[in-house]
Amino acid sequence: MSEQAVIDNLDFARNGRVLHGSAPLAGFPRLQDLLLSGQGVLNYTLSGKIGAKGEPLLVCSIDGKLVLQCQRCLEALEYPLHIESQLRLVQGATQFDELDDGDEDVDSISASAEMDVLALVEDEILLSLPISPLHPPELCSGKGKEALVNEKRNNPFGVLATLKVK
Ligand SMILES: [Zn+2]
Repeated sequence: MSEQAVIDNLDFARNGRVLHGSAPLAGFPRLQDLLLSGQGVLNYTLSGKIGAKGEPLLVCSIDGKLVLQCQRCLEALEYPLHIESQLRLVQGATQFDELDDGDEDVDSISASAEMDVLALVEDEILLSLPISPLHPPELCSGKGKEALVNEKRNNPFGVLATLKVK
């Protein structure tokens, strides 16, 4: 298993090649900003194939676990990653529109003799992440805090009442 970070993606698809790899999360600079913990490793598999219409495709699967930050309680949120996406290779930007036949499950990327595999993996992860990750309500410790804040806001004497009790 060689760490081949750059591929000729058209050649890769036409020859049905397969690349397995693993990469530390620390190697994804754009992803780092969204993570509460940068520790961990992702596994990915990239395989090339030719689609039913003769179009060159890359199939990208990514598995791993991220630690995001819950946007309600701001605590750690374990987020399992299981991505499986198909990417159609197109030559030249003008073909993007021509090929857009309403097949929304397949995204298009540019054919390239020097495609950065890890950049593609990072793109796919960023696209798959929720804009605002949240714990399920029953597991989120932020719900109680939120209710408390609302209560105080509705009752201006709420804070005073708490002080008196103390
Ligand atoms: Zn939460």
